[in-house]
Amino acid sequence: MSIEQDIAIPGLRERAPIPTWFNIGGGADRTARPRTEQELRVCLSVDPELVVLGGGANLLVDDDGTDRLVVVLDSGVFVEKEIDEASGRVVAGAGCDFPRLLIESVRAGLSGLEGLGGIPGTVGGLVRMNAGGKFGSIADAVVRVNAMDRDGDRVVFERAEIPFSYRKSGLEEFVIISAEFGLTPCEPARARDRLKEVMRYKSQSQPMGADSAGCCFKNPTLASDVYDIGRAGETVPAGLLIDRAGCKGVAVGGATVSDRHANFIVTSPGATAGDVIALMDRVAEAVRERFGVELEREVVVWSRRA
Ligand SMILES: Cc1cc2nc3c(=O)[nH]c(=O)nc-3n(C[C@H](O)[C@H](O)[C@H](O)COP(=O)(O)OP(=O)(O)OC[C@H]3O[C@@H](n4cnc5c(N)ncnc54)[C@H](O)[C@@H]3O)c2cc1C
Repeated sequence: MSIEQDIAIPGLRERAPIPTWFNIGGGADRTARPRTEQELRVCLSVDPELVVLGGGANLLVDDDGTDRLVVVLDSGVFVEKEIDEASGRVVAGAGCDFPRLLIESVRAGLSGLEGLGGIPGTVGGLVRMNAGGKFGSIADAVVRVNAMDRDGDRVVFERAEIPFSYRKSGLEEFVIISAEFGLTPCEPARARDRLKEVMRYKSQSQPMGADSAGCCFKNPTLASDVYDIGRAGETVPAGLLIDRAGCKGVAVGGATVSDRHANFIVTSPGATAGDVIALMDRVAEAVRERFGVELEREVVVWSRRA
């Protein structure tokens, strides 16, 4: 008998579906639902290569699923939160729904997260991805992150120690447990108006109701001048390159490049993860051929270990 068989995995479910915003894709051989840090430690001892499921808003799971232990942090200490209106200190468990936290902060008259309006997911997912866009990134509001390393040891990262960069936190090897944000007390109406402005922009430029994972590719920084696109060193929208490469509306099976925003791939019922992966490859190839620019995926893809 292996050691693993002796350990009780908290909240174990076998052959469980993995809900993602693409609304398609494979499942998990096993999911766990730890409620405490000690239970999370147990999960890490069972599978140190486990993966954490947040809101599934930036995730594609290959059609034959994943054999890694998938940890869901939607209960216990992982969904606790504290909002201090007077100081602007907000502490939220990694599993807290981010859009809800944002609305609660705005109602409490705290400013600093409104630029992230319209970004679905959990606190842990947004920090891990350093989610953001035109109106700023979550890194702008982070003061401290509590995490666990793969040996089950607790690590506290102060903001200055976190190597945040474009859609990256540098915390990829860690399980994020909670994050602390430093927000600024203000008139609730002011924060609300700002949030409305951000949401208006999003709903005009993105297919928000469709099944997608938001932007599929990161905006590339050009290595050399590209005629009619930008100069060397400039970061340009991946959507612009995809559109100019003639990919809007291109489809593979049930996956289509959105007509509304070329960096969104939307899926229809019956689509497979394989369709989305094949379409991402086709789009990247079209951009490479047309402009000589390499697109890097923003969407995280889970597959089985070899
Ligand atoms: C309609 C739509 C609009 C979007 N707009 C934007 C946008 O404007 N800007 C933007 O940046 N993104 C955007 N996204 C993408 C997505 O919302 C973000 O990437 C978000 O950060 C994903 O969070 P999540 O909790 O859903 O993470 P998931 O998709 O569940 O996971 C993403 C990655 O984070 C890891 N992860 C999740 N939780 C933890 C944790 N606690 N500890 C360690 N790792 C963890 C996962 O293992 C995975 O590697 C959009 C998506 C959609 C569907």
